[in-house]
This record gives sequence, structure tokens and C-alpha cells, in this order.
Amino acid sequence: MGKLDIVQAGHPVLRARAREVTPEELGDKPLLTLVRTMIEAMRRAPGVGLAAPQLGIDKRIIVLEDAEKLMLRLTPEERVARGRVPFPLKVIVNPVLELVPSDDIVFFEGCLSVRGYSALVPRVNEVVVRGTDEKGTPLEWRVSGWPARILQHECDHLDGTLYIDRMLTRTFGHNDEVGPRWFDLPVAVVREKLGA
Ligand code: ZN
Repeated sequence: MGKLDIVQAGHPVLRARAREVTPEELGDKPLLTLVRTMIEAMRRAPGVGLAAPQLGIDKRIIVLEDAEKLMLRLTPEERVARGRVPFPLKVIVNPVLELVPSDDIVFFEGCLSVRGYSALVPRVNEVVVRGTDEKGTPLEWRVSGWPARILQHECDHLDGTLYIDRMLTRTFGHNDEVGPRWFDLPVAVVREKLGA
């Protein structure tokens, strides 16, 4: 399969509901190759998650991984506030997400398919995801904090939803501005100053 480019907002595949992976595909070589290609694209970006439609592929598959080296710019306080913790690679096929009701948690979020921008996005704090791995082994993961945010973001991709559909629109900005101006301020201050 080789290297596939990450498609950008405007591509219709990002606005469609992706199709279920069939039992016959699980563990089969083309699917394993696709998963490997997704993992490579995510790591190369680098990003903490990727959904198959972002590579132009109409299948319900997500990969996610968060590593210490991707959070070096965050202070210990920021890590705690975001619930950001390293976790090993997860491959989830046909994920079904259950949101645990809570007050919205709001943080900046970006997307490899909306390259260069970010915005504050409300999400629930905790989710349960059920699905299988690429070989069909059932999995269930209950998680809160940043991994739960990534899961909500990636599962949205499978239904044709982007974070820009959920963001506080007035906080949307280019990373060249958001990074130095807003990223390290308390979210409440950002919201007040931007009128969001
Ligand atoms: Zn995304």
C-alpha cells in the first residue's frame, strides 16, 4: 500500500459515514496492511490519532497512541489539567463509543485533516469504546481525560464529523497565532478574551 497522504477538509470522504469492516476482512492481509499504513501515517505526521477516512479509505478503523515525546511542550500542570497521559498503540476496528455523561471539558484540539489550525472543543470527560482489534479480538476500553478526547475525535471521523462542527467557533485560529497567544492560557481566560 505504501505511503498514503492525509486528505484535507473539503475531501468528501471526510463527510461520509464510513462502512463497517466485515468479519471476512478481519485478520486478512489487505486490512493488516492498511492498519500498518495508518500507524505509519499517524507517527509520521506526528499525531495522536488517525481514522481510515483521513487516508481516503472508507472503513471504520481508528488508530491512536500518545507518547511522552509528543507532550514535552506541556508543563506538568497542563498535563494534569488535560488528563494527558502516555498510552500504547491502540487499533480499534468498528468502534462503538459510549459517552459517560458529564459536564463538558474544553481544550484546544487540532486535526491532521484541518492542517495548521486549532480551536477549543467541548467533549465529555469519559468514554467506553467497544470494538475489535485488526484480527477480530474483541476489546473494550473505558478511559477518561485526553485519550477520551482523542477517541471522541477519531470516532467522529467515521461518521463524517470534524472537530470544526463541534468547536467554539470564535476560538478557531491558525496555529501560528494560537500557539504563542492562547495555548498556554487558562481556557476560561481564552474564552473570555475571544468572546466564546
Ligand atoms: Zn482529525
